[in-house]
Amino acid sequence: MKNPDFSKLARKNVRDLEPYQAKNIRCSVKLDANESPYAFVPPKKVMDKVARTALNRYPDPEAGKLKAAIARKIGVDTDALLVGNGSDELIYYLIISFGGPVLYPVPTFSMYGIIAQALGQRHKGIPLDRDFDLDVDKMADYIKKFKPKLIFLSSPNNPTGNCFSSDRILRIIDMADGIVVLDEAYQPFSSKKGFLPMLKDYKHLAILRTLSKIGLASLRVGYLAADNELLREVDKVRLPFNLNGLSQAVAEEALRGSSLHNLIKTVIAERKRLYEELLNIHGVRPYPSEANFILFKVHDADAVCKKLLGHGVLVRNMNTASKGALRVTVGTHEENGLFLRALKKTMGGK
Ligand code: PMP
Repeated sequence: MKNPDFSKLARKNVRDLEPYQAKNIRCSVKLDANESPYAFVPPKKVMDKVARTALNRYPDPEAGKLKAAIARKIGVDTDALLVGNGSDELIYYLIISFGGPVLYPVPTFSMYGIIAQALGQRHKGIPLDRDFDLDVDKMADYIKKFKPKLIFLSSPNNPTGNCFSSDRILRIIDMADGIVVLDEAYQPFSSKKGFLPMLKDYKHLAILRTLSKIGLASLRVGYLAADNELLREVDKVRLPFNLNGLSQAVAEEALRGSSLHNLIKTVIAERKRLYEELLNIHGVRPYPSEANFILFKVHDADAVCKKLLGHGVLVRNMNTASKGALRVTVGTHEENGLFLRALKKTMGGK
């Protein structure tokens, strides 16, 4: 039997790739992936509709009804929308379509860099400033020199939780020759205005959103709102039938009701409580958040992460992205209580 060394067969840029950490780690309180703690439970009417989905047929390749529901919800035209199997897929398509250099601040959502690397495209992360805001001067230097085709800005930013200041985002949009993708995955939890209304002013602006953070992560539905001509290029590389029929049907119905919105309000209220409680724990420094998670720093993030898991609580270790950092997703009232109790014990309190 042949015994090839597959790591040698892989393209060099894939060989050097650090894969995204998405593992199933056993725990009793799961606060590591910025999911909603509340599952959207489809009403019977929706389940009946899902049951009628013809599983022998390919789904609607254009996801027309879902697009119409999204368009209604956010107030854009359907031809200004493209839907993806999660917003991850749309990031992939954007980089396949337009290529690098790809620019983004760091720390941020790691998939921008991972996908650029996987596709063999030049990519650069420019450190955020001390307040976790964009370092516009350093980004400007890079933009002038290398003319990035794509700039990804996650605002609110994962993992820092803050929104970048609007004037800095606008300065980057103004100076960019390529496309600026504003990733608003966490916008529903933010008190700041999103950039959807700006789409009409900037042809090179694209807004990325997802249903994953608001109770539907399992469906894998993300969408890109942008100029129709920009989307036409991205659509060329989209795989046919990229969004399965069951997800299309459930997401369309979920967007019609108000229950998703009510759950967001509960998460925001819990975030406030969690932040205030974290402020009171000795040796813990939480950062204000506009998202559904909170970044906090401790002296030894690796040890604290491990001890929390010993108590059954899973948080995300962000130590390599930012020294001493851990990221905790806002859970239910009870889950947050269990996390806080475990953290207090870990930090040496009662
Ligand atoms: N953008 C950001 C900023 C994220 O944090 C995430 C999820 N961690 C995504 C995009 C991807 O979300 P999804 O593929 O589930 O839509």
